[in-house]
Amino acid sequence: MIRTRGLAFRYPSGPTLTFPDIDVPQGGSLLLQGRSGSGKSTWLSLVAGLLSPAAGKVVVADQDVAQLRRGERDRWRGRTIGFLPQRLHLSDALSVERNLALVYFAAGLPLDREAIRAALLALDVSSVAERRPGELSGGQAQRVALARAILLRPKVLLADEPTASLDDEAAEAAMDLLRASAQRCGATLVVATHDARGRDAMHGAQVLQVEALASTE
Ligand code: ADP
Ligand code: MG
Repeated sequence: MIRTRGLAFRYPSGPTLTFPDIDVPQGGSLLLQGRSGSGKSTWLSLVAGLLSPAAGKVVVADQDVAQLRRGERDRWRGRTIGFLPQRLHLSDALSVERNLALVYFAAGLPLDREAIRAALLALDVSSVAERRPGELSGGQAQRVALARAILLRPKVLLADEPTASLDDEAAEAAMDLLRASAQRCGATLVVATHDARGRDAMHGAQVLQVEALASTE
């Protein structure tokens, strides 16, 4: 579940971004919509506890994110949130399998090789486990990043513009995989997109329209 109240954020030297309140139940899904620059990625970072709000409150999976201390927050994020960033942030110094292994270190959990194998298999990328991310197609890299995001069966799965760099067919497949993966984990799914294809695939989801209600006071 995700609940926000009176959420606002300000980048140093930037405008103040304010966001409408939202309640998404556990296992529900949310479409985060708005033009480029409206604050979608910022909202995701606030929900993931990667940024701290200037005002307001974020509760994720019954945890008030502001109540978490620094070190605690990183472990909490690792265990609770699956993040599919717009740039996938896979390390090209490491094999696909080792990229997934990093998830356990970040969350402070013992390595589970069997879970890594199962996640890669579920997303049909077992055959590239030993490769470096630079040796993958765009679609394969995205599936690896999704496997990483769901490895710890997160309560919340956040996807930032998951269809932006894909052709129509790959975009549809990516959205199907996202929804199926979230459902398997019982995770709340949030998809941020300015793309009509992502929007169409999220029919039935709650919608949060981010408007960049920016004020410069
Ligand atoms: P979206 O994801 O909807 O495109 P963002 O959340 O990335 O929007 O950005 C919202 C606003 O904040 C934009 O005006 C953007 O230029 C600004 N912004 C984003 N990141 C930073 C940053 N690191 N420093 C300053 N301003 C930023
Ligand atoms: Mg963005």
